[in-house]
Amino acid sequence: MKINVIGGGPAGLYFSLLTKRRLPAAEIDVFEQNPLDATYGFGIVLADSGLSRLAAADPQSFKMIEAAMFVTRHQIIMHRETPIFVERKGFGGALARLRLLNILQDCAQAAGVRVHYGRRIEPGMYEADLVVGADGVNSVVRQGHEAQFGTTAFDLTSWVAWYGTKRHFPYPMLCFRQTELGHFVAAAYPYTESMSTFVAECDDATYRRAGIARMNIEARQSLVERVFAPELGGEKLLNNNSNFRHLAVVRNKTWFSGNRVLVGDALHSAHPTIGSGTRIAMEDAIVLADCVAGHARDISAGLAAFQRLREPSKQKLLDATERSYTWYEHFADKMDALAPVDFVFDFMMRTGRITDARLAAEFPEFVRRYGDCRRAA
Ligand SMILES: Cc1cc2nc3c(=O)[nH]c(=O)nc-3n(C[C@H](O)[C@H](O)[C@H](O)COP(=O)(O)OP(=O)(O)OC[C@H]3O[C@@H](n4cnc5c(N)ncnc54)[C@H](O)[C@@H]3O)c2cc1C
Repeated sequence: MKINVIGGGPAGLYFSLLTKRRLPAAEIDVFEQNPLDATYGFGIVLADSGLSRLAAADPQSFKMIEAAMFVTRHQIIMHRETPIFVERKGFGGALARLRLLNILQDCAQAAGVRVHYGRRIEPGMYEADLVVGADGVNSVVRQGHEAQFGTTAFDLTSWVAWYGTKRHFPYPMLCFRQTELGHFVAAAYPYTESMSTFVAECDDATYRRAGIARMNIEARQSLVERVFAPELGGEKLLNNNSNFRHLAVVRNKTWFSGNRVLVGDALHSAHPTIGSGTRIAMEDAIVLADCVAGHARDISAGLAAFQRLREPSKQKLLDATERSYTWYEHFADKMDALAPVDFVFDFMMRTGRITDARLAAEFPEFVRRYGDCRRAA
């Protein structure tokens, strides 16, 4: 079987690795538009909840991923100038996106996958028994086939920029800040001993009021550094094509069309506020690899099985994602309306996935403090 994978991000590389392990005779080529060792973004979070699935799918790459992770337990959430410390029973881990890609590249190539860098594919430029669209939010594999895939797409109104910093945060920090320009939020988390990711966001009213549209990329970065100066402690932000942009919400009703199938962000765009886009993309890859290997003589049946098996659990994640980005679209109103502890409670319940019982089990200290505040109110 000849398989072309368009896109050498987490979904494309992981799918190729797993499929080659399961079908050693398959000829698998990955086409990545960027050169080797180039990527966007800095560190990415891989929450503990999905790690067991990665471990079961491929213990070898999992061990390398686990060894590269920087593990943290707690989180601090700032509502304006009030810090709320949130102790967790579980743990969170993060690693450099480039490190993750290097691990997956090395394992895939060692297994016999051919990875071609600096090869941008245009619509229709592929010919194989199976074409995997792992080419992210602006997928070319989707292009021209939107009706068959049932693609819908729209942009959120808020603005997001993904920076890095050498400021080491001991644990993840989420800072909701109001200045004379408006409402901003920053999510920072460490992913090595010396590096942290720093994602800045503001609502559209703030973007306009602060005149960010008229600023160049350096002025935008300086503005974020000023707004979050106390948290950055004098450290600069690092820029890797980091610029404010609207995030797109892309969805596809049908996950395959003929011999083409979508995975990861090409299938359903993630949103950074649930911090799981990479894990979700890799979990898509696991199910797709299993289905392709399980129906190697009937690709259509394999692709149908992929959607049938993966869709119920994926839909729950998509519903949580939708509730999370909707919450963030209104975070300024929430900041104005709620006292700090109520605000943090509202934030923690925003995806609808956390019940009161789960909150109490995972965050007992916070629930006790929340209860005290409610009784005192
Ligand atoms: C600000 C921000 C913060 C985030 N933080 C996190 C986080 O903390 N944790 C997390 O899990 N996720 C995070 N994500 C989401 C995460 O980056 C994505 O969900 C994840 O990378 C999806 O993987 P993918 O392989 O589907 O797509 P991508 O990672 O987008 O990979 C697609 C690849 O395809 C290549 N490509 C595209 N078009 C072509 C073409 N025509 N020809 C050849 N190659 C092509 C691209 O160069 C790219 O390498 C964040 C996203 C954003 C925007």
